[in-house]
Amino acid sequence: MDANEDLARRRAAVHTPNYLPQPIAIVRGEGCHVFDAEGRRYLDMMGGIATAVLGHGHPAVRSALAEQADKLWHISNLFVSEPQVELAERLTSLCFADRAFFCNSGAEANEAALKLARRHAHDRGEKRFEVVAFDGAFHGRTLFALSATGTPAYWEGFGPLVEGFHHVPFGDLAAVRDRLGPNTAAIIVEPTQGEGGVRPAPPGFLEGLRELADANGCLLIFDEVQTGMGRTGPLFAHQGSGVEPDIMTLAKALGNGIPIGAMLCRESVAASLVPGTHASTFGGNPLAAACACAVLDTLVEGGVLVRAQEVAGHLQRGLAGLAKDLGPRRVVEIRGAGHLWAVELTFPASGVVDRCREAGVLVITAGANNLRLAPPLTVDEAQVDQCLSVLERAIAAEPMEG
Ligand SMILES: *Cc1c(COP(=O)(O)O)cnc(C)c1O
Repeated sequence: MDANEDLARRRAAVHTPNYLPQPIAIVRGEGCHVFDAEGRRYLDMMGGIATAVLGHGHPAVRSALAEQADKLWHISNLFVSEPQVELAERLTSLCFADRAFFCNSGAEANEAALKLARRHAHDRGEKRFEVVAFDGAFHGRTLFALSATGTPAYWEGFGPLVEGFHHVPFGDLAAVRDRLGPNTAAIIVEPTQGEGGVRPAPPGFLEGLRELADANGCLLIFDEVQTGMGRTGPLFAHQGSGVEPDIMTLAKALGNGIPIGAMLCRESVAASLVPGTHASTFGGNPLAAACACAVLDTLVEGGVLVRAQEVAGHLQRGLAGLAKDLGPRRVVEIRGAGHLWAVELTFPASGVVDRCREAGVLVITAGANNLRLAPPLTVDEAQVDQCLSVLERAIAAEPMEG
């Protein structure tokens, strides 16, 4: 038995069975590569599930973490924290928001956003508690975030869910309009649905939601947990549309792998979170906040976002070529932008994931028939080419009927 199999066997004996990990243990990462327990190297084209936006062990983030580790690990939000102030200053200077709340994950960031939407209505003397969300949306696994998530299979056995959610088809403004009413507190939407299959909002959709939210008087929440931090091109995906939300949530890539989430909003909305209304023990932890500052500095001032655009173009052209080469019997379409793409296949993608891994490239799925690529923004053209040729062979190897 090799070291990967040994760890997988020990894992199965002690973990709850809710994950189905691939049969390798990843023990080390360096840039766009990771290494398994037998020392085998893989090109990480799923970027640690869209977290490692700068690649693994980026020197700027490592030194920020090491410096902060020498100073202070945790003291709580009962004191002022310098790394947290620095992070909030950076984030609010880079987007529409005036205020930041920090937490530890995407679900918690959405939890804060949804609680704030209800509280904001309450403070205005309104009975608004309902939320319009979308089929196929993914907002996390806490009960409030799960209730917003638009995949009924994830709800099974966890009911009753939080009251007041209405799910409508993604992209359907008329359906949203029909569901808005005097009780609506918020609309929550991903600018590109990530887990739901990498589905970018159709042209005009975010603009339409902004208009509907304003006409109704409810808040507009953009869940940028997956699309934020340059994943789709701009630092935050909505900045490509010209539409601003009232609340935005971040997590995955914010700390380049260190757990941290954020809920960002305008001052007028933030005013509802008076002392005592919401909190998180670890939220804005100094180690995590210091890492996130280094991530933002490297993306923006370090030029990673700009350089990433060239590679994104190369990736997009390569995927279009791959779809053309393989043809409609295998590839339905490619969808995405920047460094977040899906290749929708005519068959379940799990066999392709396995063949890619065996050929030294890590990719993941997003729904049964979609392969998802979410590589570090630091991936280069040669690495993209390596991924594309492995991917093309792995898809072509699928036995087809007829
Ligand atoms: C991953 C994800 C979440 C949930 O984040 P967790 O950190 O797993 O709680 C929420 N929203 C979106 C869009 C995501 O991609």
